[in-house]
Amino acid sequence: MRGCPDFARVGPLSDNGPVPRPTAASSALFERARSVTPGGVNSPVRAFNAVGGTPRFIRSAAGAWLTDVDGNEYVDLICSWGPMLLGHAHPEVQAQVAAAVARGTSYGAPTEPEVELAEEIVARAPVEKVRFVSSGTEATMSAIRLARGFTGRDVVVKFAGCYHGHVDALLASAGSGLATFAVPGTPGVPASSTELTLVLPYNDRAAVEKVFAEYPDRIACLITEASPGNMGVVPPEAGFNAFLAETCRAHGALFVSDEVMTGFRVSRQGQWGLDGAVEGWRPDLVTFGKVMGGGFPAAAFGGRADVMARLAPEGPVYQAGTLSGNPIATTAGLATLRLATDEVYAHIGAAAETVKSAASDALRQAGVAHVVQATGTMFSVFFTASGRVRDFDDALTTDASAYAAFFHAMLDAGVYLPPSAYEAWFLSSAHDDRAVQTVLDALPAAARAAAAAQA
Ligand SMILES: *Cc1c(COP(=O)(O)O)cnc(C)c1O
Repeated sequence: MRGCPDFARVGPLSDNGPVPRPTAASSALFERARSVTPGGVNSPVRAFNAVGGTPRFIRSAAGAWLTDVDGNEYVDLICSWGPMLLGHAHPEVQAQVAAAVARGTSYGAPTEPEVELAEEIVARAPVEKVRFVSSGTEATMSAIRLARGFTGRDVVVKFAGCYHGHVDALLASAGSGLATFAVPGTPGVPASSTELTLVLPYNDRAAVEKVFAEYPDRIACLITEASPGNMGVVPPEAGFNAFLAETCRAHGALFVSDEVMTGFRVSRQGQWGLDGAVEGWRPDLVTFGKVMGGGFPAAAFGGRADVMARLAPEGPVYQAGTLSGNPIATTAGLATLRLATDEVYAHIGAAAETVKSAASDALRQAGVAHVVQATGTMFSVFFTASGRVRDFDDALTTDASAYAAFFHAMLDAGVYLPPSAYEAWFLSSAHDDRAVQTVLDALPAAARAAAAAQA
């Protein structure tokens, strides 16, 4: 997660590890960046603070591969933190985007691609209507406002370790006990912004029942990642989302399922395709982002028609955006979703299976305690000896310094993993045999580097 423990840098690699690659051009750009941008990056995790070393500045990308400004090539296991489901520079997406750019880039008036993308989302996901915004943060912020406006209530329930963007009310940490209001998770968020937020341990039904009993008629909504991926992948236990949906319904609160990461990524229908569609329940509101923008800033929230009808201009709850539903972004998202066929998900699922079992084998052989967790095609590897990870406290048992050594050994062997021990690994339909083989070849030495960091 973006708030997890930091440390400065890792030691040198062991003798038999891969050779570090040139980073002079990235280092020079990082210097320039730091003099004009806080920390040299525009989103904190990119800075490599959690793993040490120089962030790579990327010059270009194609398919499964990134090329940095020093000319190094890497198999990309971040995929822009999820969006690049089809890999980079997909020719069909590129062509449609280029054609859209040629027609002008923003009009501040409605367009056809917005309607088509909304129809595509409504066809796949459990929403009757959607409203487009430009980031996942905006989507969750707006969904909460709408839930409060619809119910006339003010309290929001969330889970520790679930990340919903940098919304003030959601940058909250659990207070001194269960069922007490949260404290700000960062300076700059006033206590008044989190004093209506309750933070619970994930996968904990008793904690959910307790707050709904303690705050009757006050809870506007419960928001959860549909399957948490921002503390590493921590899937809901069987029936947990159904339980949340039912508990909210029974208490007149809305169930907000945040599918910004999982939507159109873990399956054709997102996480809901893996549980709600099978079990026969629907969330009241859903948030989307990442894949649905096809690499552009596009996100959305949607849900029940009667709830969405409360939104301006149809209803009184205000929400707006100059670039919302931007024609380039919606064209890219639409092209991506139309190309995201069952074959695409099957391919990503098979590649993920190969990579995660090879990672687990390599770590086991090197004697590194770990657990691999997955939902649909999305997975992560926890460097922990504590067994299954079911909530944020479990995730924090991760050995972040062993991961840092592993990360750098992989990077030196040409594999770009998330520069944090608490993130999912992402693949795409462009991860072919050559890309996957590069990852497999890199794993044994990286696992030994992780073992050496623990010794
Ligand atoms: C990435 C993410 C967000 C925030 O989206 P941004 O576009 O980065 O603002 C919200 N919720 C979840 C589950 C996410 O993974």
